[in-house]
Amino acid sequence: MEQYDVIILGGGAAGLSAGLYTTRAMLSTLVLESVGYGGQVLVTDIIENYPGFPEGVKGPALSILMEEQTRKFGAVMKFEEVISIEQIGEPIKLVNTSEAIYQARTIIIATGGSHRKLQVPGEEEFAGKGVSYCAVCDGNFFRNQKVIVIGGGDAALDEGTYLTGLVEQVTIIHRRDELRASKILQQRAFANPKIDFMWSHVVEEFEGNGILESVKLRNLKTSELFSIPTAGAFIYIGFDSNSAFLNGQVPVDEFGHIYANGQMETSLPGIYACGDIRVASDKQLGGAVGDGITAALASYRYLTELDT
Ligand code: NAP
Repeated sequence: MEQYDVIILGGGAAGLSAGLYTTRAMLSTLVLESVGYGGQVLVTDIIENYPGFPEGVKGPALSILMEEQTRKFGAVMKFEEVISIEQIGEPIKLVNTSEAIYQARTIIIATGGSHRKLQVPGEEEFAGKGVSYCAVCDGNFFRNQKVIVIGGGDAALDEGTYLTGLVEQVTIIHRRDELRASKILQQRAFANPKIDFMWSHVVEEFEGNGILESVKLRNLKTSELFSIPTAGAFIYIGFDSNSAFLNGQVPVDEFGHIYANGQMETSLPGIYACGDIRVASDKQLGGAVGDGITAALASYRYLTELDT
């Protein structure tokens, strides 16, 4: 059985950053990824808010660079799906994948998650071309234009309110006539002159020619179908965390985010969580990188203490 000081679950920004630091600390490191190195970065067209790139940077290009850098310092990278982990006794842990079983002295969980999709025609075609899942990342592209936000939870109202600092008007489209969001966010949104609501409507299709130009809506009360023009559509209908494989072994919140402290330590010794999977993550690239580094350093300190 292959044995490592650190096994990192997930090869997104948090996992790759963690791997860069653990390998440079001379810890033997395995990074396991099952979809594509870079994670959410890989599926982001242009990233404008990552320091050091005043012109923005293409997500796929940055993903390749991050992967290369982590590999260069000696991380073993495998394309395998993690099925489960087991704590055998401190510090021995096992990681079961679709291909093998590996032994680790520490585990860094950086499996992230993904924004829930509406799964309507045009959503994929116009992703990054008007359809977005991140106002902080993409709001700037729509300065002084009219945009829509889909959803009725905290994220929709929070991000919709954020967008009003940039755009001319935000229309929040919600499938019911009552919001799920907390009362304070509701009050703030209702009082904001740049926000209006379309109740009991759903998006049936994203329409355009190369870029998003309009959305086709259905009024759920009358079944009427009609289109409204929009430059941008921000979808906030929930976030799916990739933590089901933990099977309750590491404490998670009701959304599957893992509880971790400022050192990225979970309640289990030698097991860390970082990036989008962590409770209270801002789900930003810079934050994921910082989380990954913190987890790597915490894991280094833990192993150093064990060995002395
Ligand atoms: P959420 O609370 O699950 O809300 C999802 C919203 O999307 C709901 O209003 C839901 O409608 C709607 N929705 C779901 N599927 C849909 C579909 N297929 N078509 C149309 N609408 C759909 O998710 P969230 O807003 O992402 O929040 C997740 C967690 O993060 C929550 O705990 C939230 O408190 C937290 N969060 C907090 C803040 C903050 O406090 N500032 C900001 C962001 C997130 P229904 O209401 O009809 O189900």
